[in-house]
Amino acid sequence: MELLKERILKEGKALNTEVLKVDMFLNQQVDTELIDAIGGEFARLFADSGITRVITIEASGIAPAYATARIMRLPLVILKKAVSIAMDDSLIQAEVFSFTKQKSYQLTLQKEYIRPGDRVLIIDDFLAMGEAAFGAISLVERCDATVGGIGAVICKSHQPGLKRLLDAGYNVQALAKIAEMGKDYIRFEED
Ligand code: 5GP
Repeated sequence: MELLKERILKEGKALNTEVLKVDMFLNQQVDTELIDAIGGEFARLFADSGITRVITIEASGIAPAYATARIMRLPLVILKKAVSIAMDDSLIQAEVFSFTKQKSYQLTLQKEYIRPGDRVLIIDDFLAMGEAAFGAISLVERCDATVGGIGAVICKSHQPGLKRLLDAGYNVQALAKIAEMGKDYIRFEED
């Protein structure tokens, strides 16, 4: 997605070879027009995948997942990173190691929000090691639903997540694929 790549080149900051900061349009300040375009692109890419529900992981996945679900006219479910007292006892959890925080958390879902037979599209802001995606997949499959696709706004393809998911047979689409990056450069994979 050219518009997204231009923004990454203009405003993104590679902190090192592994971590990209995009706080100014995706993670903290959010460019809503760009997010709508991202939602439109995911809706186009997964139009024929028989998706019945979109899920994401709080917090940075919510904006692109909302835009996608809105355009696809599907329900959106947000997986939580912590249990709240407002949740009931139908919780299921998967342990995920956070690449950016360098610690584990329990990805949490109230089971009734994913129905048996659902075909789920998982949307997140980044794909790095694939830990968050595999955690989400395990929750979906424990609800007797299937994963119909995985969409990452930005995939760092020099990290193992993309290959792990493709090797496991999932349909993964990324809107910007970074082949390598370093302090003052970002190089995208050729489309
Ligand atoms: P994974 O589980 O694939 O290792 O990482 C995905 C999660 O880590 C995403 O939900 C995202 O929030 C966060 N993440 C991974 N890499 C980056 C990065 O380079 N920059 C930012 N801002 N977040 C990242």
